[in-house]
Amino acid sequence: MSRPRIHILALGGTIATRPDASGVMQMGAGADDLVKAVPLLGTLAEIEAETVSRVGSHSLSFDQIHALAARIAASTAEGVIVTQGTDTLEETAFLLDLLLERDVPVIVTAAMRNPSLTSPDGPGNLLAAVRVACDPWIRDHARSLGVMAVMLDEVYAAADVIKAHPTRLNAFASPQTGPLAALVEDRVVPLSLPVRDAVAATRKRLGKVDGTAQPVALLWMGLDEPGRLIDAMLGASDHLGYRGAVVAAMGGGHIPERLAEVAGRLASAMPAVVSPRAGGGPMLRQTYGGPTSEIGLRKAGLIWGGRLHPLKARVLLETCLRAGLPRAAIAELFDAWG
Ligand code: GLU
Repeated sequence: MSRPRIHILALGGTIATRPDASGVMQMGAGADDLVKAVPLLGTLAEIEAETVSRVGSHSLSFDQIHALAARIAASTAEGVIVTQGTDTLEETAFLLDLLLERDVPVIVTAAMRNPSLTSPDGPGNLLAAVRVACDPWIRDHARSLGVMAVMLDEVYAAADVIKAHPTRLNAFASPQTGPLAALVEDRVVPLSLPVRDAVAATRKRLGKVDGTAQPVALLWMGLDEPGRLIDAMLGASDHLGYRGAVVAAMGGGHIPERLAEVAGRLASAMPAVVSPRAGGGPMLRQTYGGPTSEIGLRKAGLIWGGRLHPLKARVLLETCLRAGLPRAAIAELFDAWG
């Protein structure tokens, strides 16, 4: 049987670290090194390995992921795997999902345990990602699955996957929907297909995204938040360069009442999206009264972020602004997310 051609693009991250002379882990390995460490890959696929960068994912930029998406779009391989750090995987995978529409599997994978530790997970995750990319069910459903993340033998949808723990091996999860598939022995066991209507509607609205970076402030709400940073941003020249804001709100879409006035000013100054700090899940729209519950905030002009995690809402808002969408179009687009 012929082996599918799989293109591996390496960005860096723990999966690509090596110890320096003092034992501290540094980004060092390239795509060839990652592939060489897993001889079994060659029996499953014809591998093309490309080193894109050697950086921690905490230092990646939106521009770098846009450039990566263009590379993936141009790849003639029958499957694409991106290796990177885990820190921003939930954001980069989602951005790739917004930008790419491919009929071949596109998978992001990474490692939690570095190669100097007992049982590093990088080689196993890379092998799992290649197995998933070669699987007939995954290949048949590649377009409906969208960009996937493969970690610890589970396959997740880019819109849903989050990094839910800073250090443990099973750090990734899709709390809202569960995984799309599990890898058991050498088999992919399908579990569900993602609902892609919001992604499709978003892509249609976005069109070609070819603008420049648009800084989006992430404003995480906590008990007794005084709102001084928001006030300072609004009072500063050019709003400190911010073009939009995501307000990570409490519960079903609430912020402290003392912020009513500044929240209204924020909504008039720039597209400001409310997103659930609980970590995703649809918010309320019409239950609670008061100026800073869902009804009041929506009336004040805040955009309702739907079920997206605040980090993903920030990625989507940056993409909308980069695409040059006006506020009304951004509000409509977020509406599709619940
Ligand atoms: N902070 C680094 C990164 O995201 C290492 C963390 C990791 O890969 O797990 O690339």
